[in-house]
Amino acid sequence: MRVNLDIYAIVEATQELHFGNVRELNVGRIELVTVPTLEGEIEKFYMSPTKVRGVARRSLLWRLKDLGDKTVESCGIPATCGRCDVCKLYGALTTTAGADEGSIASRVYQAGGVAIQPIPPEIKQRLSSPTYFINGQMGQYERSKVKEFLKKQGVSGGDLDRLSTPMPYEMEYVAPSSLFPLYWHSLLLEVEKKGKMSEPEMVAFSFLDSLKRMGAGHPKGVELFHKAWNGDKKEPLLVVDIYKKPLGKRCIISPMETDAKKAIETFSTKAHDYMKDESFERYLGAEAEKLLRTLAGGKTPDSKLLKSKAKSGS
Ligand SMILES: [Zn+2]
Repeated sequence: MRVNLDIYAIVEATQELHFGNVRELNVGRIELVTVPTLEGEIEKFYMSPTKVRGVARRSLLWRLKDLGDKTVESCGIPATCGRCDVCKLYGALTTTAGADEGSIASRVYQAGGVAIQPIPPEIKQRLSSPTYFINGQMGQYERSKVKEFLKKQGVSGGDLDRLSTPMPYEMEYVAPSSLFPLYWHSLLLEVEKKGKMSEPEMVAFSFLDSLKRMGAGHPKGVELFHKAWNGDKKEPLLVVDIYKKPLGKRCIISPMETDAKKAIETFSTKAHDYMKDESFERYLGAEAEKLLRTLAGGKTPDSKLLKSKAKSGS
């Protein structure tokens, strides 16, 4: 039996984050996107879905390797193998010459990532200072001392200058508390477990696990944003749909929206707008998080669609 599984979330940058873009000389720029609004153009942070995807894929490769799956051992990024369970779900492009040339379409689509608030990047001055152990003492020594030490190690020429010179550079960062909507659409997941993980388990696991590693460099990580939006208690801004028919409003925030409060209201209104039907299940907030955790933990959650296996013709 196959089902679709969609995830809608609003996540928060819990500290300054860097999403690498072009690196100019000594300046680490961040990825921004220009959004035309009814009042004119604005620039917003952008958490590119292709980067989110890379993080999610890696998390599954590691997990499957951990579970003893031998097929993932010859799979990687960007050299996808086209044979393992990650490739079967996330797609693959094998361009190396040989019999296996070709591609597999992904069944997991990541989208969203345009920040809600139009906050300008924070710019921080950084200094990369060489640190070495010299005569048993670790420290940041004078340039001449470091040079002398490195020469003894056999370093010479341009490398000697580079490795002994403190290098000032600037980094642009996403401001903490920036909110990003994320949308994952997974198509025709096989409910029955055939490999080390079931396909719904792989989607849930990679979604939850990759939250910790969003961003480039250091620090990393985002968290599901919590607010009282589905009752009195603070709950994550999270909606999970398991379905065969698309009977719910998609909880998508317009990139034009710049007001976090309005964005959350829109999310909530759309989240509560769906048809009750045996072919459509919607989980909201804490319940949605519990569902993803249960799946990620390798258990079958209390879902009729996920439990209805082995029905012929589906
Ligand atoms: Zn693979």
